[in-house]
This record gives sequence, structure tokens and C-alpha cells, in this order.
Amino acid sequence: MSVSIFGSAKSKSATKALLLGSGELGKEIAIELQRFGIEVIAADSYENAPAMQIAHHHYVVSMLDAAKLEEIIRHEKPDFIIPEVEAIATDTLVQLEQQGFNVIPSARATKLTMDREGIRRLVAEQLLIPTTPYIFVDNKAQFIDAIDNIGLPCVIKPVMSSSGKGQSVIRTHADVDNAWQHSQEAGRSGAGRVILEGFIDFDYEITLLTICAVDGIHFCAPIGHRQEKGDYRESWQPQKMPEQALKKAQDIARKVVTELGGYGLFGMEFFIKGEHVYFNEVSPRPHDTGLVTLLSQDSSEFALHVRAILGLPIGKIAQYGPSASCVILGQGKSQDIRFSHIKEALNEAPGAQIRLFAKPEINGSRRLGVAITRASTTEQAVLDAKAVVSKINILY
Ligand code: AMP
Repeated sequence: MSVSIFGSAKSKSATKALLLGSGELGKEIAIELQRFGIEVIAADSYENAPAMQIAHHHYVVSMLDAAKLEEIIRHEKPDFIIPEVEAIATDTLVQLEQQGFNVIPSARATKLTMDREGIRRLVAEQLLIPTTPYIFVDNKAQFIDAIDNIGLPCVIKPVMSSSGKGQSVIRTHADVDNAWQHSQEAGRSGAGRVILEGFIDFDYEITLLTICAVDGIHFCAPIGHRQEKGDYRESWQPQKMPEQALKKAQDIARKVVTELGGYGLFGMEFFIKGEHVYFNEVSPRPHDTGLVTLLSQDSSEFALHVRAILGLPIGKIAQYGPSASCVILGQGKSQDIRFSHIKEALNEAPGAQIRLFAKPEINGSRRLGVAITRASTTEQAVLDAKAVVSKINILY
């Protein structure tokens, strides 16, 4: 569903978008929506979330609270409901979609990808796409049996988790107890079901940004990335890979986004080993590793998402050459985060860009910004982006 008349924000006939999740990715989506004059309403569970700071208005609400979520949607009557996170009362979105509300890209995609089981069973068991071997278990006894089946090393992840929370690699039997304990403490929905996956000793992993729009399915150049503790640290574009492997990944992406339905940008994650391509996950929305596209392409992943959502054609995507992003990771406790040496940081790599997310609080480790660079090779772009970040001083 798209609009054919674009109302002006804050006017009687404003075209309205409700962002469910207001982090740094939501902030960039909000900026792109506003470039089309759309009225942006930002929701998240805490005050002063990045996208709230630039939205026309906002709600502080738990998006897992079905009744509150429905109340806001019925009150605002947004033309577009745009999930930015996984922790949302997705059954409410399914019901509201049936009543005519427009969930991006579709309520089904949001529901299937909110837990690892929905999307894994769809992709591996219905679409018969290669993934890591896996077993879902509900308790420790089943977990120990599953380890015997899958073999070591293997990876445990809570079904409701992202950014590496509750995830660990089990290399020897000595790791079993700690891995189970960790998985039960760090998942989004607390203790319970986990997925146990075979560990793939991949050559590299990619995010293939795939856009489903009125003028067909489009791909961005593959993005390589390095993860630490399940969270991304650097990403680069384009990731060099064999033509055959890229084609396989694109074929899989085409199948999955067509099945999930709706217009928007999807972050398709794959592990690549030689010419073997394993599907890992999909986000039916912009992906954190895609922050590199703020500098590497003429339209960033956020701009592409918004164009697709609005029912506009994507046309052609220009990639500007080897580029990289490196996250600015804070570590501390503060409600008054400050940054210094930004000038020195930018002097490290002429042409570099820095985004600071203005998060209101840190308690432990949190992504606070990103540096993005372009160079003659992706290797150099990564080195430059890391050099920029290394100069920035965070004050807590
Ligand atoms: P995920 O939350 O599933 O995206 O996992 C986070 C990161 O952990 C991935 O991007 C990989 O770097 C690593 N990882 C996850 N699953 C596996 C696996 N089965 N084999 C090897 N590495 C994995």
C-alpha cells in the first residue's frame, strides 16, 4: 500500500508515519521521511531516544504493551507503521493490518522475524534454503541432547534476542553450563526457548541490502562486517566475493523478501564459505551494518527504505567505491555523555564523516556513534574509519 497524495507535516491532511523504535537507525529513517514532508511520530521505551529528538512528536511506551500500542495507533491513524526494532507486540500489528492499517513491510514479516524460530522454519523448512544445522530446545536436558546431535562447536542463542545478547559458542563440554546459564539470563523474553546451531567456520559474512519496491527487487553491493560479542564493529562495502556466491545470495534474498511481502528494504545476512552461501537472518528494515551506505551510495539504506515504503521507484543505485564504517562504542555510566577531539578525528582521514547519536544515557557498553570513510580499497577505508574513532574521546 502506498500514498498517491503527499500531505504536509503538521497540516490537516498530513501524511503520517509512526516509528516503532527510535534508535539511531530510526533517526535516519525519520530524516528521510521528513525530506518528503511526512509527519513523523516516534515511539520508544525511553525519553529522548535519538529519533524522538527530531520527530514532530513522540510517545514513551513499551511497544510490547499490546493495549497501549493499539491505543496510539488508533489515535494517530498513521499512513505508515514502521517497526525499527524486534521487540513489538506483533500480534497487534497483524490484527490492525487486517483492519486496513499499513505495517512496513508487512505485519507477517514483522511477526516472523521477531523471533528466530518463525523465520528459520520458514526459510529452512518451507523455502528449503541452506542454513546452519539447528535444533530448538526448551530446557537444559533437551539442550544437552541437542549438542550431541549438532556436534561441537555450536552456537546457542535465545529465540528472542539480537546484538549477541545471551549468545555464546560452545567449543568443549566444559562450556555447556555457562552457555545455558547465559542464554537464560540475557534473552529479551527471559528464560526459555533457545536455538542451537552448528558453528560455521565461514570465510566472511555479508549483509545484502535488498529492496522490494514498485519497480521490482533491487540489491545494494554486498556489505562485509566484523562482529564482536554478536554485535558489529566495522562494516565495509563492497565485500569482494565470487560472482557465483553473490548470485546465490541474491536468488535467496529474492525468494525470502517475496515470501515476506510488502515494500521496503531488508537486511539479508549470510555466511559465505567458498561458493557455499548460508542464510543466517533477515531484518525487514535497515540494518546496522548498512550505516556505511550513508557515505558509500547516492541513496543510503534509509533513503531507499523510505522510497520503497512510499511506493516510489528506486531506479538505479550508485555505489561510490570502497567505503567503511566503524562504530563509536562507549563503555561507562553516565547521563551526560560528551565527546571531544572530533576535529582531530576528522583530520585522520580527509572526507571522513562522523555521526553522534545523542543517546541520553549509557550504563555499560553502548553504540554512541559511527565514523564512515571512503578510500581506494575497503581495507584502507576500514583502517581509516578505525583511526578516526580512535581519536575520539568520550567523557562520562
Ligand atoms: P546473529 O544474532 O544470529 O546475527 O549472530 C551474531 C553473529 O554471531 C553473526 O553475525 C556471526 O558473526 C556470529 N554467528 C552467529 N551464528 C553463527 C554460526 N552458526 N556459526 C558461526 N558464527 C555465527
